[in-house]
Amino acid sequence: MKTITILSGKGGAGKSTLTASIAVMLAENNKIVAVDCDADAPNLALVLGLNEEEFDRWEPLNTGQKAQISLNKCQSLKFCPKCQVNKYCLDTCNYSAITWNMHEEIPEINEMLCTGCGACLITCPTKSIEMKEVENASIGVGKTHYGFPIVSGQLKVGESGSGKVVNTLKARAAEIADKISADYMVIDAAAGIGCPVIASVRGSDYVILVTEPTTVAFLDFKRAIELIDHFNIPCGVVINKWGINRDFSYQLQNYFQNNQIPLLGMIPYDMRFVEALINLKPAVVYEPNFRNVFTEIMNNCLFEMDKI
Ligand code: SF4
Ligand code: SF4
Repeated sequence: MKTITILSGKGGAGKSTLTASIAVMLAENNKIVAVDCDADAPNLALVLGLNEEEFDRWEPLNTGQKAQISLNKCQSLKFCPKCQVNKYCLDTCNYSAITWNMHEEIPEINEMLCTGCGACLITCPTKSIEMKEVENASIGVGKTHYGFPIVSGQLKVGESGSGKVVNTLKARAAEIADKISADYMVIDAAAGIGCPVIASVRGSDYVILVTEPTTVAFLDFKRAIELIDHFNIPCGVVINKWGINRDFSYQLQNYFQNNQIPLLGMIPYDMRFVEALINLKPAVVYEPNFRNVFTEIMNNCLFEMDKI
């Protein structure tokens, strides 16, 4: 099985639109599994017309940790007189997750702010703080109207640990891929270059980077390609909204040519893409005339992968 990850440095560049159409087209002649690894803002299933209630199942995921104070230990401050004054844990927490309850003379943790970094464990002189596992996300498995399975994750509000959530999503998708002997796993990564993106990209056979002809998107693209280079994963690029800035579109094409980055295709700026999103349909399904655009991108991608 080959894994193709689609990502963009900038949010809103058209990642999910491209992923949905490529997935639908690949599934016409192959067995595939789609994975939405943007656990902070998952929308691939919706773009494929599948809403939350239509998933076969949702399971809770406990990949997050929060600090928890044992007040019995902490209140034995007679063993740690300095702490009453210094309040080490308060000073340690860079996220202001620990506050001091003046009435009861105890520290309190705001779970919403605690990132589970564990720093307060180290500085607490009485070893009163420990980490507890918390349910921070849910993972859904469903079948799209186009016949292929989809795995999607949803981080709970205020929770962190999306990198670990992505690892779990990929592992679950790999189990399904094994069962159906999938030819491809198609991953819709989060935007940016952070932890969930790194977790999405790691182990991929090929990365499709989506950008648009704007300075902001280009700067984000350059950061994203540094990340891909770091992991030494072959990649190609797709210019979305080609034509919103023709001069810049041509400059981008030159840049990719000069830097030997394969240009897999260009998606024109067209309001029918917005209409497809509104109607919860992949662009190739909503407007069959778009098939040429996505066929070119898919074939170029498969051609580049064959060279690996
Ligand atoms: S684990 Fe980190 S974020 Fe949470 S309370 Fe301790 S220092 Fe603050
Ligand atoms: S550092 Fe430890 S002993 Fe001191 S106030 Fe915080 S939890 Fe209590």
